[in-house]
Amino acid sequence: MNRDTLVTELKGIGEKTGKLFEKLGIRTVEDLLQNYPKDYDDFREPMPISQVVPGEVCAVYGVVAGIPNEKKVRSLHILNMTVMDASGSMQLTFFNMPFLKKVLKRGGYYVFRGTVQARGASRIMEQARFYALDEYRKLTGYMSPRYSLTRGLTSQAIQKALRQVFATYAYEPEWYGEDFLCRYDLLPYRDAINRIHFPKDREEMTQARRRLVFDEFFTFLYLMRQNKDFSQGLKNRYQMFETADTVRFLEQLPFPLTRAQKKVWQEIKDDLGSSHCMNRLVQGDVGSGKTILAVLALLMAAANGYQGAMMAPTEVLAMQHYETISAYTKRYGLVFRPVLLVGSLSASEKREAYARMASGKANLVIGTQALIQEKAIYHSLALVVTDEQHRFGVKQREHLSGKGESPHILVMSATPIPRTLAIILYGDLHISVVDELPSGRLPIKNCVVNTAYRPKAYRFIAGQVAQGRQVYVICPQVEEGDLEDLENVTDYTDKLRSALPEQIQVAYLHGKMRPGEKNRIMEEFAAHSIDVLVSTTVIEVGINVPNATVMMVENAERFGLAQLHQLRGRVGRGQHQSYCIFVDTRDNPDTRKRLEILNHSNDGFHIASEDLKLRGPGDLFGIRQSGAFSFRMGDVYTDAGLLKLAADAAETLFREDPALLLPQNQPLRKYLESKAANQVDFRSI
Ligand code: ADP
Ligand code: MG
Repeated sequence: MNRDTLVTELKGIGEKTGKLFEKLGIRTVEDLLQNYPKDYDDFREPMPISQVVPGEVCAVYGVVAGIPNEKKVRSLHILNMTVMDASGSMQLTFFNMPFLKKVLKRGGYYVFRGTVQARGASRIMEQARFYALDEYRKLTGYMSPRYSLTRGLTSQAIQKALRQVFATYAYEPEWYGEDFLCRYDLLPYRDAINRIHFPKDREEMTQARRRLVFDEFFTFLYLMRQNKDFSQGLKNRYQMFETADTVRFLEQLPFPLTRAQKKVWQEIKDDLGSSHCMNRLVQGDVGSGKTILAVLALLMAAANGYQGAMMAPTEVLAMQHYETISAYTKRYGLVFRPVLLVGSLSASEKREAYARMASGKANLVIGTQALIQEKAIYHSLALVVTDEQHRFGVKQREHLSGKGESPHILVMSATPIPRTLAIILYGDLHISVVDELPSGRLPIKNCVVNTAYRPKAYRFIAGQVAQGRQVYVICPQVEEGDLEDLENVTDYTDKLRSALPEQIQVAYLHGKMRPGEKNRIMEEFAAHSIDVLVSTTVIEVGINVPNATVMMVENAERFGLAQLHQLRGRVGRGQHQSYCIFVDTRDNPDTRKRLEILNHSNDGFHIASEDLKLRGPGDLFGIRQSGAFSFRMGDVYTDAGLLKLAADAAETLFREDPALLLPQNQPLRKYLESKAANQVDFRSI
């Protein structure tokens, strides 16, 4: 068995189970190995019931006492029982498991294990797992991995598959030499992959994780280092000169550029006119005005007779850029001949767009990933701007140009990241920072509230709409979920429609809608035929409707702070005072503390670093920053030390053996080549 073996070839995994594995993105043995646990269960000795700690996973050993009590709340069946030991008693609650009243016998002794909650002075364990004492004893002494699951597939099933793999797996030779492992204090891969799934204790798990995270960082940084040498050696084939077009456009704009925008615009102009190809990242907090810089660069390309392309991560955002730039073109008589290219266009519309790109009739192409796919042939592509997401590897750069000549690249990002980390992670790009918001913006007023505040919030929303403003409301899910008590877009929309005055137009938006439908809703919201938009986080990045002044986030405790900051960035984009209401439905001290950070700061950079402090290095599998740096396990913030170590290692290797020719580096060369070949089209920033 090797890493390409399909999981359906394992014993006990038929077609049906194979489908479930596939739902989790697991097709091959390699996928299975890389499906790291999201947490571990530590099976400790049972404790006396009187000593259980609310909020923690505890195990107790006791007798089932009293008569079970059943009730039904909507579609939810609730079963309550009591467990007792010499020190006291506690309630057990099970959801949708009516059969348990027969399984758990009154007077029977069991170990119950689960998260304990406090209700006043009493303690409750919900959805406890239960074991016979000798069965439980077998589990103590090692950590049991827990995985992300899908209905019908348990962690046990995944563990079983893994044990099979480990018994017969043909490991590739270790790709780092003895010296290397020793120098950077790393476990051999074979041990690391075993122990990440089945560690004896935290210490083993931490060591295993260290090796695997190092691999992720090292591979990324090494390939980036190659990319840097490649792209910084590229000559500028499309030298551009400033024309009257950009100067006139700037004069006509209703606002002057900020000092920071002026500085970055100068840096971009210098690149475009220099002897080398541009490879630049523009970093700036939400609302700092990055789009206008992209438009200026694209205008310079068009005025010099070239084509430009602008790529956005979502159709909604691509459409918005298209609308904005088309409006500028009309209003200020710009030389753009723009065309839109997104997945939801009809086949004939796409053909038409491709034809205009290939003939050069269009000198600006705006779209999603579709615009760099095979069929997309350009006439004279000289500049590619990517908004909020992508960075290009060597292969994509080659791919991008029809004639084998690389265009200039400008990447825009709002990911707040400390300078020391940025230098490592964006080592292949030059960095410009827009470190100032346009003047005259009123700081957003924030509040963190509990659910009791809702009626007041709705009155406030109605008031803002009456003044001509618009509102976003964010819910974490699309439809009603199974057990979890989270707000959902569908029901919330109905709720708002009845809570708000009749004339207020409420609509909803979520990721499961067809792209055309989403675009239509966004256009209507931008055109102000919708007042209140209830949405999932699909509107998180980039959307710009300056007339929107209220952002209300339900179940705010469920989101990462960076994500909430991005969401908040959708308001406060115009001259009106804006407001952000974070509804903390849990209302406990920990969630409150996190949300208070947002309450007191509108600065993305500050928020990211405070979030980091709260999470701390102990939080091994911490919340992923939204969309940022898609490493499987490594977290650039909490693993910053390891990131620096991997950067040193990559740099040292480059110095010592740039082409990886030394005999001891052959396994590593093979490994890195396989990674480069399998590299997904785009590495997310
Ligand atoms: P982001 O950096 O988040 O992409 P945008 O480029 O979408 O921000 O800009 C946000 C809003 O600020 C837009 O409505 C834009 O027209 C406006 N804007 C940009 N630059 C300035 C400026 N110098 N003065 C005033 N408003 C500006
Ligand atoms: Mg933007």
